[in-house]
Amino acid sequence: MPAHFRSAELFARAVRVIPGGVNSPVRSFAAVGGRPIFFARGAGSRIYDVDGNEYIDCVCSWGPLILGHAHPLVVERVQRVVEEGMTFGACIEAEVEMAELLTSAVPSVEMVRLVSSGTEAVMSAVRLARAYTGRDDIIKFDGCYHGHSDGLLARAGSGVATLSLPDSPGVPPDYAAHTIIAPYNDLDAVRAIIERRRDAIAAVIVEPVAANMGVVAPAEGFLEGLREITTEIGALLIFDEVITGFRLGRSGAQGLYGVTPDLTTLGKIIGGGFPVGAYGGRREIMQMIAPAGDVYQAGTLSGNPVAVAAGLETLRLLGEPGVYEGLERLGEALEGALSDAATEASVPSSVSRAGSMLTLFFAPQPPRDYVSARSAAINRYGAFFRAMLEHGVYLPPSQFEALFVSTAHTAEDIQQIAQAARAALG
Ligand code: PMP
Repeated sequence: MPAHFRSAELFARAVRVIPGGVNSPVRSFAAVGGRPIFFARGAGSRIYDVDGNEYIDCVCSWGPLILGHAHPLVVERVQRVVEEGMTFGACIEAEVEMAELLTSAVPSVEMVRLVSSGTEAVMSAVRLARAYTGRDDIIKFDGCYHGHSDGLLARAGSGVATLSLPDSPGVPPDYAAHTIIAPYNDLDAVRAIIERRRDAIAAVIVEPVAANMGVVAPAEGFLEGLREITTEIGALLIFDEVITGFRLGRSGAQGLYGVTPDLTTLGKIIGGGFPVGAYGGRREIMQMIAPAGDVYQAGTLSGNPVAVAAGLETLRLLGEPGVYEGLERLGEALEGALSDAATEASVPSSVSRAGSMLTLFFAPQPPRDYVSARSAAINRYGAFFRAMLEHGVYLPPSQFEALFVSTAHTAEDIQQIAQAARAALG
């Protein structure tokens, strides 16, 4: 059993000065029991806590670290850039390069604006959709998380799911009233909403592969159906690809499924481990953003040199031949390792996977929506998480999050995870 004395000391200090001791709720371990671990260092697929324990990292900072921790080429580029000034709050060449890269890689993105987080990207995209359509209502899906902006904090998955907050106090009911919730993978429910409020819907926003109720893939025809419905009623389709962008392939989920939304939000990977988000889409829509148009959105550190450099180097390395094939193989091997361990231990389970992200659910069928994801045996996950930690594997401290693997993970890492899983479930 690894000792966590120093983590415990730090947590005791943290709770006195930081709400709940953490700067983002899901870090608290509230959903899995125990106290959070404080980390000191990461290298490749490994992370090291402040007590000197080593773990294989299957969280990868919740997705951004697709190259693993501290990739030497990313570190080198960041160091070079940071020495020349951290931010100018003014135009730089690298942000143009980034925008060119994003517009060439992501099918729906003809123009793009950089921001500093996924939350900011989605919040801005929704504002833009409302301005473009002149309508106020948004359809979102139960269990999809789109950041913590007021209107989108309704029936979100992820940390909100974990902590069982139905919503958040502090969100005026009038705001939430403009967010209409439908079950994921349920086109009939979307059609029923539209029958009642056809002319009020500005946008349908969706995680094209959901990752905040655990990984839940879109059912056949779901994304295509949303595309048809939104086109028919003159609403915009927004794909929130903060997780899936550059994770499922260079063109994201939209490239993989061949469905092109009107607007796309990005984050995580495109910042290479630094705070970045982006929203982009059709030129005529994006031209409404200030100062080209009058939809206001701004940011002191938007497109800052350090984050953009880390992102550019990450995306350059992801463009090398065979990278996504390698990630697919690793994902597949991890899926096999976890489901074999569960089968050996006669534990009912299913692994829901998309490329290099996956979730092990303790239910025989993979869920298709939030209700079925929630009915998987959540308490069992807490015990599994703690046992894996004891065996040197760091999993997301919540059933409703994805495990991520990176290009730094190896076949030996997967074998080690398999062994740990056998011990944890056996
Ligand atoms: N959208 C999705 C799909 C996300 O998964 C997240 C965060 N995990 C966000 C938006 C919000 O991003 P951020 O935490 O960078 O604000």
